[in-house]
Amino acid sequence: MQLSHLLFQPVKNPPKDADTINHRLLVQAGYVRQLMAGVYSYTTLGLQVLRNIEKIVREEMNAVGGQEILMPALHPKLNWTTTGGWENIDVLFKLQSRTGKEYALGQSHEEIVTPLAKEFIHSYKDLPLALYQIQWKYRDELRAKSGILRGREFYMKDMYSFHSSQESFEEFYQVVKQAYLRVYKRLGLTAKVTEASGGNFTDKISYEFMVLTDAGEDDIYYCDACDYCINQEIATVKEGDPCPKCGQPLKKARAAEVGNVFDLGQKFTKAFDLQFTDQNGEKHFPIMGCYGIGISRCMGVIVEKYNDERGILWPESVAPVSVELLSLAGAEEFASQIHDKLQSAGIKVLWDDRNLSAGNKFADADLLGIPERLIVSPRNGEKIEWQTRDKKESALLDLETLLEKYASLTHATAL
Ligand code: ATP
Ligand code: MG
Repeated sequence: MQLSHLLFQPVKNPPKDADTINHRLLVQAGYVRQLMAGVYSYTTLGLQVLRNIEKIVREEMNAVGGQEILMPALHPKLNWTTTGGWENIDVLFKLQSRTGKEYALGQSHEEIVTPLAKEFIHSYKDLPLALYQIQWKYRDELRAKSGILRGREFYMKDMYSFHSSQESFEEFYQVVKQAYLRVYKRLGLTAKVTEASGGNFTDKISYEFMVLTDAGEDDIYYCDACDYCINQEIATVKEGDPCPKCGQPLKKARAAEVGNVFDLGQKFTKAFDLQFTDQNGEKHFPIMGCYGIGISRCMGVIVEKYNDERGILWPESVAPVSVELLSLAGAEEFASQIHDKLQSAGIKVLWDDRNLSAGNKFADADLLGIPERLIVSPRNGEKIEWQTRDKKESALLDLETLLEKYASLTHATAL
């Protein structure tokens, strides 16, 4: 991929209205463009990052037995009046058609997945069942802010599980929790698991997955010595109090919620009269769980965690490409050969082939944050200068050595 061919290029000046690092760097580097508050376009490179995150989430959801589906974003009013959501959910976007019919845009999909599952769940033998999708969500957020952390349109993975007993739900929850922790680890994020109230759905406990960052909107108390963590919203403890689990003093920090799990109980299965027959021929309402991951928010949180004064430092697992190739004046032909060889070896490479000064190319490369950098210049002849974006490593290598090195790259697939 040649940078000169891309419509979206890094720009010199950051956007004026950026209130967070992710907003400033993602727009300046050319990964996203803002349409209005909370609504963004993803450019070719930005979309690649989103897809990389999505792939990791999908792999882990498939691994716990989730079945991927895709539900509509446009919903008839009836599904939402059935649960009371039409009146009670303040973020629900409501639309009217030209014939006067009313619709909602999906802010979450309990109202759709429950009647859908009802068509197929009849007996205890059909349970447990976990369905998930990866899709844009719409919420009439009063304050869409912090770049892609809080959107009015945002990308989410939402999974819904159906169980014949509370034990079955609790068992599955533990499995999903581990899968979530694997997802965040693969994304380069350290997530703490909090206990929090169940929000709109139920009085039951829910769990939030929190990443410490000043750009987040939640305050949490956590313990460094053990895994205790709680959202300030419901907390009876305060900073410095002994940890209820191990006695060490609690710390307070800002955090961004990158995912959560709710025990929905029978609220939705009752509302849609979804019942199953047990071994004795008796009918029951299944217990439901729901499990969200904010995919676009994760992308923003990654930028909040991985940046320096010069730009982004993408973790290898989500980087839009693995390697950025920089050709300085006079080395274009050699660069072109390297570009083609890397591409045919299945290594994702972005070649800055623009007619710009070395200084401009280096500055843009720092902004873009591709993990590995190759510099070819007439000064180095057939040798290639290899660097990592974090500047921790560098060497002068020949092409053969480089190709061997990259053969082991984890997501080495051709664009
Ligand atoms: P929050 O507390 O941040 O408002 P929520 O509790 O409403 O989120 P869910 O409705 O369960 O969260 O959504 C699942 C996940 O989707 C959240 O954990 C979060 O990562 C992400 N998310 C929620 N709202 C937004 C938004 N407006 N923009 C971007 N991501 C969001
Ligand atoms: Mg929340």
